[in-house]
Amino acid sequence: MEDQFQRQIEYLRISVTDRCNLRCQYCMPAAGVEWIPHEQILSFEEIHRLIRISTQIGFKRFRLTGGEPLVRKGIIDFISRVSQIPGVEDLMLTTNGMFLPEMAYALKAAGLNRVNISLDTFNPERFRELTRGGDVNKVFQGIFRSLEAGLKPVKINVVVVRDFNLHELPKFLELAQDHPLHVRFIELMPIGISSDRRGEFVPIDEMKEILGLQGLELERGQIGSGPAEYVTPAGYNGSIGFISALSRHFCNTCNRIRLTADGKLRPCLHSPKEFDLREALRNGSSDEKLRKLLMQAVWNKPVEHHMNEEAWQGSRVMSQIGG
Ligand code: SAM
Repeated sequence: MEDQFQRQIEYLRISVTDRCNLRCQYCMPAAGVEWIPHEQILSFEEIHRLIRISTQIGFKRFRLTGGEPLVRKGIIDFISRVSQIPGVEDLMLTTNGMFLPEMAYALKAAGLNRVNISLDTFNPERFRELTRGGDVNKVFQGIFRSLEAGLKPVKINVVVVRDFNLHELPKFLELAQDHPLHVRFIELMPIGISSDRRGEFVPIDEMKEILGLQGLELERGQIGSGPAEYVTPAGYNGSIGFISALSRHFCNTCNRIRLTADGKLRPCLHSPKEFDLREALRNGSSDEKLRKLLMQAVWNKPVEHHMNEEAWQGSRVMSQIGG
C-alpha cells in the first residue's frame, strides 16, 4: 500500500528475537543487556498471523532478522510455514552466518530465498574481538555453503568503522571479484550503543575514494530493491554496493516498516514512534483490526529521518528493532 508520501510500502523486516550469539561492539554492550522477557516476545504463531494479514494490503517481501534469527528454536519450521503463505514473494534472512555451515541447506529446503551475511573483517583475531567471541572461519564456511545451497543472491554486509576496518576495504573488493557475492559497505549509524561513535563514521564518498570507485556510475536497486546503490566493475563475479543512511539518506525511496521482537510496528528505524500490535494480537482483535493497525503504521511513516541532527541516546538497541 501507499503511504501519505506516495511511497509503495511492501517490505516488512521482522526481528524474531533480540537474543544473539555474538556481541558486536557497535551493536550491543559486552554485558548487562536487558533482554526482553520471553513472554513479551511474539510467538511464531503471532508473527505468522501478522505476515498473512500484511499480504492482504500488499506486503510481498519479508526479512527475518534480530538479534540473531538462527538462534531462535523452531526457525526452520517457521520459515517453511511462512514460505507457504500466498503473497509471500520474497523471504530473506539477515544473519551473522555462524550457524549457516549446518543450516544453509535446511533453510533453502524450507523455502528461504536468500541471505545477507554480516562480515566486517577477514582477520580471525579482530573478528573475535569485534564480535566478542565469533569465529570468522565459520562465517566464511557459511557464506560458501549458502552459495552452494542456492540462497542467492548472497549479500555481504560490511559496516565500515573508521579505526577498525577502513584499511580492509580493498580486500572486500577481491571477495566480489572472485565470487558471485554482493558486498555492501554500510555507513555506521548513530543508533543505540553507537549513538556516541560519530568519530568512527566514514561517509560513502570517502569509502569510494579509498576503493578507487569514485568515478563509476551507481545504480540503485539493481540487485533486490533495497537502499543499496551498486556498481559491477568489469570482470567481477559479484558486485559492490553502498548503503548510506546518513550522508545520502534514502528516505524518499524507503519501502519498508519494521516489526520489533516484542511486537511493535515501527514505521522508521530511526524514529521512536511505534504501534503496539502485541497488545492487539493478545486482546482478541480481529484480522480486520490488525489490518487497520498495519495500515495506520504505513500511513504514518515519517517523510524522512533526522538522524543527522538528533542524538538517539536511550533508543532501543538494534537487535530489538531488527537491523
Ligand atoms: N544477527 C544478524 C546479523 O549479524 O546480521 C542480524 C541482526 S544485526 C543487528 C543486522 C545488521 O545490523 C548487521 O549487518 C549489523 O552489522 C548491522 N548494524 C548493527 N548496528 C549497526 C549500526 N550502528 N550501524 C550500521 N549497521 C549496524
